[in-house]
Amino acid sequence: MRSEQEKSEDFDPFFAPDPGWIEREKKKARKLRDSPWWKKKKAAGKCHYCGQAFKPAELTMDHIIPLSRGGSSEKSNIVACCKDCNSRKKYYLPHEWQEYLDNLQKSAAATSHNMDNSET
Ligand SMILES: [Zn+2]
Repeated sequence: MRSEQEKSEDFDPFFAPDPGWIEREKKKARKLRDSPWWKKKKAAGKCHYCGQAFKPAELTMDHIIPLSRGGSSEKSNIVACCKDCNSRKKYYLPHEWQEYLDNLQKSAAATSHNMDNSET
């Protein structure tokens, strides 16, 4: 019975949320999708990650911290992003995703100063 006890002590709610909780948060997200708040966010037409302009229909809802990693469906954890970024985020490991964002920010900073990106 020793292993049983160890199991419960090892339980980490942030990395192993129970399925019922995830379902609840998913429901919340669906509700938010119908809210004026979300419509406004989409109408802004901007991807939260790459910062590019998109049609509202091209933007998807994304949890900055995925529900499976303990994120919740609070407005502060939900952003509008393009399908490209959304699928990339699913593929990448967290540190790879962070690198991707860092690179985006660097190139955004470079283009906003002047257009002399000599790599082309
Ligand atoms: Zn994007």
